[in-house]
Amino acid sequence: SQVPVGAGAVLAIDLDAIAGNWRVLRDHAQRTGRAVECAGVVKADGYGLGAVPVATALAEAGCRSFFVADLEEAAALRAVLSPGTFSGARVLVLHGPTAGTEREMAALGLTPVLNSLDDIARWRATAVELGRALPAFIHIDTGMNRLGLDDRDARHLAAEPALLTGLTLAGWMSHLASADVAGDGLAAEQDARLRAHLARLPRAPASLAASSGIFREPALLHDLVRPGAALYGVNPTPEAPNPMAPALRLLGRILQVREVPAGATVGYGATYRTTAPARLATIAVGYADGYCRALGSSGHVTIAGVRAPVVGRISMDLLSVDATRVPPEALVPGAFAELIGPDRPLDDVAADAGTIGYEILTGLGRRFCRVYQ
Ligand code: PLP
Repeated sequence: SQVPVGAGAVLAIDLDAIAGNWRVLRDHAQRTGRAVECAGVVKADGYGLGAVPVATALAEAGCRSFFVADLEEAAALRAVLSPGTFSGARVLVLHGPTAGTEREMAALGLTPVLNSLDDIARWRATAVELGRALPAFIHIDTGMNRLGLDDRDARHLAAEPALLTGLTLAGWMSHLASADVAGDGLAAEQDARLRAHLARLPRAPASLAASSGIFREPALLHDLVRPGAALYGVNPTPEAPNPMAPALRLLGRILQVREVPAGATVGYGATYRTTAPARLATIAVGYADGYCRALGSSGHVTIAGVRAPVVGRISMDLLSVDATRVPPEALVPGAFAELIGPDRPLDDVAADAGTIGYEILTGLGRRFCRVYQ
């Protein structure tokens, strides 16, 4: 009912499902009997679904720690997660305080993740200039070799704790490289490296697990978990049924239905040729909307619950499906096909495209009519 008649495609986002997924993750993280905090990762505009509505829904469910990538994302969230609206809410900035942004970060009351000794020094200098303690998370690299203090710098910090004077230590964190791979030994190795550093460093809550890590050994959970993808319905346990609820439906409008004979070619490059008479439906979604070109001839949609394979190449704003098996009464211009949703799980679409749910989510286009439920 909230969909304008002219909308070619609709992205329906289920905020209750996202909040419900957060509760499932929090409860699972607390199965150890410890009060493990469950944060929410809402970077990349809430994995493409809208950081502000998603974070608001999570805050209403009780989430108080929100991770974003950079200052711009953090500033957008701070406006809705002010201490006046959700007391105790904090916004943590994974990329840290890039040089020159420290004062703005401090003024916005953000908690940067400090990824190097240089980050620590600059954030401390800002605390000294402002004459007040500033909060900080500190990232120790244990195997990603991407961001964070390396082994030598973490040891240096342990030997010189005065480097932290003036900072309020909000926590230590590290990031697992392959928690989604069952039976992989690297997570335990990373955990052991983190614990060895923590034993030498000043005490503060520690965080290691993201979506998949939450479902691995309880030892990985530490004091705070940082799920992102699982909130949005990506399966954090790829080897088992998905414990998360689907959080979105992507619907594309049927623009035309046409009968074609055997031997008809479809779309650019004429890469697909019908082998029998067929009924084709043309849908108002294309690769410009994030429906990857790789899904041409490998993906499918559902119309009235019936599977209709994508045929031919995906165009910028259109795709064609073979809808011969769809009952004709359901196959009318103006009706919707489901491209992602309960009938067409996100992870299956990603697998058909040769990628991961994360990439499909964050690539979803801007021109969809977005409806929050
Ligand atoms: N923590 C860090 C440092 C990350 O980079 C990410 C996402 O890439 C997350 C947590 C959330 O990971 P996931 O989406 O797998 O839960």
